Amino acid sequence: MKIESDFNDIDALGDDHIGSSSETPLRADAFKLSKNDKIDIIKDDVKHILETLGLDLSDDSLKGTPNRVAKMFVNEIFGGLDPDKKPSASTFDNKYKYGEMLVEKNITVYSTCEHHLLPIVGRAHVAYISNGTVVGLSKMNRIVDYFSKRPQVQERLTIQIVKELQNVLNTEDVACVIDAKHLCVNSRGIRDIESSTVTSEFGGKFKEKETRREFLDYIKLDTQF
Ligand SMILES: [Zn+2]
Repeated sequence: MKIESDFNDIDALGDDHIGSSSETPLRADAFKLSKNDKIDIIKDDVKHILETLGLDLSDDSLKGTPNRVAKMFVNEIFGGLDPDKKPSASTFDNKYKYGEMLVEKNITVYSTCEHHLLPIVGRAHVAYISNGTVVGLSKMNRIVDYFSKRPQVQERLTIQIVKELQNVLNTEDVACVIDAKHLCVNSRGIRDIESSTVTSEFGGKFKEKETRREFLDYIKLDTQF
């Protein structure tokens, strides 16, 4: 009976996509197994799922799927769980004394909804105001990519990107807006193919109306290249 009510609770969370914390809920033993051990275990699990669905895994087209999916989970789409893959924290002195806002817009986001394990696809727009330290532009893309490659909730992803940049740049003045489509909404459930979800996190000066407005005006710029 207890188990049944727990399952009902889990199901009630279902399509509501509630995030519980700004930290990815990892277990203490998350990195005890090697990557190869994880791939071996997940391979068997995927095989079990497909066989349970009634598929014949001796078919040439399906026979490599469990191994392919297991490698993809561990090395690619959930590779950002691995702290070793976190982009290095190299920063530079702000030699130009550029004290205005720097905006990196339209950073591609490929993530995975942790409630349905379906893709989240969208764009992140990230900004900061330097207090003497700057990062290479591609660092912002790499940070977005690293935190995207986890089972995610879009709100948490937005906060994780801001917190990491605040850390690296040693300033509170960081902001991020993400506009993304969730395939769990677009392709199943309510099947709304047009809707997208916008989340934002504004730190430090970006909490002020004027600074926030400037950032939002920049990301509205529809530059064509
Ligand atoms: Zn979902």
